[in-house]
Amino acid sequence: MAAPPDLERAILAQALAACGRHCAVLEPGEVWLVGAGPGDPKLLTLDALSALAQADVLVHDALIDPRILALAREGSQLHFAGKRAGHPSTPQGDINDELIDFARRGLRVVRLKGGDPFVFGRGAEEALALAAAGVPFRVVPGITAGLGGLASAGIPATHRGVNRAIIFATGHDPDDEGALDWHALARTGQPIVIYMGLRNLERIARALVEGGLSPDTPAAVISAATTPDQRILVSSLGGIAEAAHRAEPPAPALVVIGEIVPLRARLHGAEP
Ligand code: SAH
Repeated sequence: MAAPPDLERAILAQALAACGRHCAVLEPGEVWLVGAGPGDPKLLTLDALSALAQADVLVHDALIDPRILALAREGSQLHFAGKRAGHPSTPQGDINDELIDFARRGLRVVRLKGGDPFVFGRGAEEALALAAAGVPFRVVPGITAGLGGLASAGIPATHRGVNRAIIFATGHDPDDEGALDWHALARTGQPIVIYMGLRNLERIARALVEGGLSPDTPAAVISAATTPDQRILVSSLGGIAEAAHRAEPPAPALVVIGEIVPLRARLHGAEP
């Protein structure tokens, strides 16, 4: 439900006051690498919102929710630098060069990335390229999908008595050189949150079972978390790949495996 006008005015005044007191000025020739959070515009930080309000040019990924792009300052240029599995994507080097070029032209540049810019989003590569080129930049943290998505699905990332660690892993190309040792992750017995894990889910699940996790370990796919399309599929490690194959959950999706998953059923009943 939208806020009634009085409440909207109060919220706006509060947000403006907080931004005025705490937000930084984006200078011409500067680049901010900004985390946009998992999707819901309400999960933007004040810093991210102020970046959107100041940008001359906004370079964004495919993952950015259109409702967030709609918050950009009127007159700012939008540049798509998409990367999405299975589709042609802009090479990383071209994105880096574009950011450097915009900055050298004296523009206020916002590089908007899904979630947190430094979690599996190649933000560090962009920051390193900017540093090497001597372009001033800042990193604005965002809520990573692995945390925001879990909370939104009613799955606590940690729960006393259940887990003492949480593993964030990428499921992208597990057969690459330097591929993750899924057996070793399985042996920790700690929950694993897999980004970009759908495509290789069958192989990953098999490796985790070979590594010693029971096929009955609870597992879930959380897709389009925090958006109106959010869907949650709950199964077991042994059944999750087949269940995901059948249900075809919308992208982007996270896979979560471990004893934190069943807490959702207990919390869900209690939610309004
Ligand atoms: N920097 C991002 C992650 C980029 S990698 C972050 O911190 O969240 C892209 C992967 O993130 C997707 O393949 C998916 O696994 C996950 N992801 C991003 N947004 C998501 C969302 N709203 N719901 C579920 N998974 C999401």
